[in-house]
Amino acid sequence: MSLVVMKFGGTSVEDPTAIARTAEIVAGRVAAGKTPVVVVSAMSKVTDQLLACAAAASRGDRTGALAISSRLRSRHRDTAAALVKEQKDCATLQAAIEHDFDALDEVLRGLAAILELTPRISDLIVSYGERLSSVIIAQAFRERGLDSVHLDSREVIITDSQYQKAIPQDAVIEDRCATRVRPHLEAGRVPVMGGFIGSNEAGITTTLGRGGSDFTGALIGGALHAEAIEIWTDVNGIMTTDPRICPDALRVRVVSFEEAAELAYFGAKVLHPATILPAVRKNIPVLVLNSRNPTNEGTRIISLAPHCKTPFKCIAVKKKLTIIDVVASRMLMTHGYLKAIFDIFDKHQCPVDMVSTSEVSVSLTVDSNDKLPAIANDLGKIADVKYEGQKALICMVGEDIRGQHGIAAQVFAAVRHVNVRMISQGASEINMSFMIEEEDVEEAVRSLHAAFFQNPDPKIFDVEARQAATAKV
Ligand code: ADP
Ligand code: ASP
Ligand code: MG
Repeated sequence: MSLVVMKFGGTSVEDPTAIARTAEIVAGRVAAGKTPVVVVSAMSKVTDQLLACAAAASRGDRTGALAISSRLRSRHRDTAAALVKEQKDCATLQAAIEHDFDALDEVLRGLAAILELTPRISDLIVSYGERLSSVIIAQAFRERGLDSVHLDSREVIITDSQYQKAIPQDAVIEDRCATRVRPHLEAGRVPVMGGFIGSNEAGITTTLGRGGSDFTGALIGGALHAEAIEIWTDVNGIMTTDPRICPDALRVRVVSFEEAAELAYFGAKVLHPATILPAVRKNIPVLVLNSRNPTNEGTRIISLAPHCKTPFKCIAVKKKLTIIDVVASRMLMTHGYLKAIFDIFDKHQCPVDMVSTSEVSVSLTVDSNDKLPAIANDLGKIADVKYEGQKALICMVGEDIRGQHGIAAQVFAAVRHVNVRMISQGASEINMSFMIEEEDVEEAVRSLHAAFFQNPDPKIFDVEARQAATAKV
């Protein structure tokens, strides 16, 4: 069985046209003799709107919350009506949609009364996005001649109970995939499942964190030993940088697992950071593909990438960071000082991205979040603390910087007009990162891109696309 997991992101299922395109892509794989498992995100922006609903209800704005929910109800209803013409099927699907929205509205009314949004309730509310999209898409596939079956991911993706960022339980997932997914594949059916959502062992709904549908795809691919995991999105693959910042970004044909993991962690939104893990463990190639341009060969993520003459593969950007400077006035050179600092971040469950130390001070960067005042307060008991938000991290990734001399000088020459706050070269030796003001990001990325991707290695980068675009102008 030539098993492939196909994950479609929000823009790939944003409306009836996009869903119809998705059905064609899947049908194409079936016609080519593949056995697909389909994982879908919520329709684009639905997750944000559900979170807005939850926030409104928890402020006591019952009318506002129900108004957002009502607009979402119409959008899903209309999408289903446009995709499913067969009357009986359409009636069943519409009844399922109404049922889900009635249940969601019930939760919102309750929330508006108790005014307390717990992470558990947030996961329940936000789960409707993927629950609804997957049911509609499974039916749309059937109407288009695919023998598809909807499976509730909450019965397959079993996690712990850390709501909003639940940790999948690999052994249970493997077992559930074997007993609840594989039999459908053996019967020739195409399972359609919602990404991002799961449940704990008690059956309570959890989620894997924002962007987590990629992770679902990889978990299922890993558990079923798929031959490939395909991440279908709205760009041609992993690009040399975010094309929204740099329209002349080039598609990278191939990157290693290690490079992709760094890129994802340091902000290239195209892939959720945890996606790579299950693929690495089972050595399953991951492909990033464009559902609006399905014949493009995309990006292949494999364990060992070929040598590249260009030192970097990609420039990633992570915004909304805060830099914390801790000055060791009182505990200078004291044994256990760094441990004491990290213990405080640990206590507040706050991951640290980048660290740089001197003899008297430690600078750390973290995602800006509401725990910072409490963290600063605790740190203030052992040192002097300052923190400043609106920072961004630029991360340049490429295995071929290993052993290259003078590369840092070239990087900093390219951004000499930008104020660099903090520098670090990852222990992995495949990334160079530095911190700047958020407002300087676009300028810095464009300068770096111009400096390093003027004459990129054609074996690794899709230079023909750039030549074709230039010829058109
Ligand atoms: P999906 O909804 O399909 O999961 P996302 O919005 O999560 O899609 O990710 C795709 C987006 O990631 C692209 O539209 C692009 O703007 C952004 N992006 C950021 N960095 C990169 C990069 N290096 N390569 C490709 N896309 C990137
Ligand atoms: N719908 C979820 C989100 O927007 C998960 C995903 O799309 O990957 O974060
Ligand atoms: Mg995504």
